[in-house]
Amino acid sequence: MLFKRSRSLYKEAQKYIPGGVNSPVRAFKSVGGVPVFIKSAKGAYLTDEDGNTYIDYINSWGPMILGHNHSNVVEAVTEQMQNGFSFGTPTELETEIAKLITSSVPNIDKIRMVNSGTEACMSAIRLARGYTSRNKIIKFEGCYHGHSDSFLIKAGSGVATFGNPNSPGVTDGTAIDTLLAKYNDIDSVKSVFEKNRGEIAAIILEPIAGNMGCIPPKGDFLLKLKQLCEDNQSLLIFDEVMTGFRAEMGGAQEFFDIQADIVTFGKIIGGGMPVGAFAAKKEIMDYLSPDGKVYQAGTLSGNPIAMRAGYTTLSILKNDLNIFHRITQTTKILSEELKAIFEKAGIQLCINQCSSMMSVFFGISEVSNYDDASKADHEMFNKYFHFLLNNGIYLPPSGYETWFISDCIKDIEIEKTLDRSKKFISSI
Ligand SMILES: *Cc1c(COP(=O)(O)O)cnc(C)c1O
Repeated sequence: MLFKRSRSLYKEAQKYIPGGVNSPVRAFKSVGGVPVFIKSAKGAYLTDEDGNTYIDYINSWGPMILGHNHSNVVEAVTEQMQNGFSFGTPTELETEIAKLITSSVPNIDKIRMVNSGTEACMSAIRLARGYTSRNKIIKFEGCYHGHSDSFLIKAGSGVATFGNPNSPGVTDGTAIDTLLAKYNDIDSVKSVFEKNRGEIAAIILEPIAGNMGCIPPKGDFLLKLKQLCEDNQSLLIFDEVMTGFRAEMGGAQEFFDIQADIVTFGKIIGGGMPVGAFAAKKEIMDYLSPDGKVYQAGTLSGNPIAMRAGYTTLSILKNDLNIFHRITQTTKILSEELKAIFEKAGIQLCINQCSSMMSVFFGISEVSNYDDASKADHEMFNKYFHFLLNNGIYLPPSGYETWFISDCIKDIEIEKTLDRSKKFISSI
């Protein structure tokens, strides 16, 4: 496969954009090599600037659950554009999407739209702090909640990829209020509560972790977190930016049958447009301005075109609830068969799969927290990544990332992926 145009576009981009990218993971720093510049996408496939096509296992990091360029979404957005791009006023569409989301997701009465998952999580902890009149939050090592200061305290994903646990520019004053615990380790959370009695506003976590690779919650971890929050009058925040409208229509709350106090969204709710949101029961949401005193705002929040893309995507999901089961099955088959292929060849690995999210960790038999994920053989993953890329399969460019399966991934794509994985084994 030739990457001639991608190579020259990357060179040019680096002159004008830091690292040549607008989000670090895209630069392929973890896997090495030249990032592929994509020109278009349709269904399960991406096409790059050199005309190569790839089966897409990233799907824009989750949003494209229906596959790329779904015709109903394209039609709806095209129609919406005729009315204008942004008004900075309320629109009927905002109420429509708010109704659709609050009726689909358990335990929420009201929702506020923002423009990214980062904004959603940043605003959710401000709201939790305002509501509880407490300052500290607990987050888990390896969970990612966007790039706002409070969360860049040894976060996962891009930051982990760069081996840069704390970002310069985050002040000690901010870091003081973010307490870290270990994912899937309830004792680590208990001990944080014990040392900070009466000071914890909230626990925030990815109910299925996806930013240190896919790591599902073990046993009754989520339930115990909920109990700890109740015992300490702290709020439980589910960051459902990845899992919302993916694990189930009602997200991880529905999937695990556990209710959170505040839920954040992103990715799928925008249907590929830049949208985030946070939601909770009325008692909590009414703390937000203009009704309450917790300030939060956005010039382009609730943008009509973004809302139409999100509304249409969510409506398609709602009218075809079997999709969640379908893509979970696809993901299960892919992960089980991949595991069998590698094990047959005597290659040790762990494949975590939960709903339509999965990750492959080489050289390790179990991965249940960030430490485990960092012990995996990332060199091996990088080789696997490049082999598949050269064979028309686009995996996330880091062993710390999650594969997102779309509804357009069918038997033919799975078979090709399994076949190329066998060829990879023969090549090493
Ligand atoms: C992607 C992601 C975010 C950040 O969303 P952005 O839209 O990139 O700001 C936050 N939390 C989780 C769990 C995510 O996966």
